[in-house]
Amino acid sequence: MSEAIERAIDRSHMQVSDEVAIQISQMNKWYGSFHVLRDVNMTVHKGERIVICGPSGSGKSTLIRCINRLEEHQSGQIVVDGIELTSDLKNIDKVRSEVGMVFQHFNLFPHLTILENCTLAPIWVRKTPKKEAEEVAMHYLKKVKIPEQAHKYPGQLSGGQQQRVAIARSLCMKPRIMLFDEPTSALDPEMIKEVLDTMIELAEEGMTMLCVTHEMGFAQAVANRVIFMDQGQIVEQNEPGEFFRNPKSERTKLFLSQIL
Ligand code: ADP
Ligand code: MG
Repeated sequence: MSEAIERAIDRSHMQVSDEVAIQISQMNKWYGSFHVLRDVNMTVHKGERIVICGPSGSGKSTLIRCINRLEEHQSGQIVVDGIELTSDLKNIDKVRSEVGMVFQHFNLFPHLTILENCTLAPIWVRKTPKKEAEEVAMHYLKKVKIPEQAHKYPGQLSGGQQQRVAIARSLCMKPRIMLFDEPTSALDPEMIKEVLDTMIELAEEGMTMLCVTHEMGFAQAVANRVIFMDQGQIVEQNEPGEFFRNPKSERTKLFLSQIL
């Protein structure tokens, strides 16, 4: 079990609302003839912190990427914050502006400074005046505890610092939902904690979060629900205590026995 979560978590703001943030119904996706997501049904309420786990190749990244339309589904329905994901580009832009995404590889622009990475989308997509965008960026860089790196380039930062910049960059667009796809799996162990701490703070502030991660300490401390996927399906889901103590399916048991 991961030891990354050491500090006490403040759960007072981590309440789940009745309002639905994401609704996925009977959703299917194929890559060519390969049926990658099968009849996925999922309701995410505002304020939920969901951890998605499962073996490599089970469709976790594809599912996350469908939610902000980096991938297109072929049947069923995905509704994000009341907006249905269809081929209508207007809808896609609206959804992307509400949903932040952080990847395993930080995907920062190497030729731009940290500050420029954080202000690029607000200035060019949101038409925010430069000075205001910079103020907002500095606010979030302080939040992820690296304001002093603002004028450096990504290559001058550690992996953990770069990932915190990636989180700050997402937050600059004021998303209502944050998607994380294995945000710590490319990091050295000593940097994992600083990124998880940033994610914990976000959770404590009430952000709706979907995190693909194998950091089971994080799942236990922060998630209100853990979803296990295998072969393109949601096999099992439960609150973390029950999920880890009492997994139901053989596939979940096998998976947990391999990672815990
Ligand atoms: P996970 O994130 O759980 O490891 P992925 O969603 O990345 O799984 O991938 C699920 C399956 O889809 C894997 O078998 C993978 O090889 C396949 N796959 C992923 N992306 C593509 C793609 N662009 N084209 C074809 N197959 C893909
Ligand atoms: Mg993946």
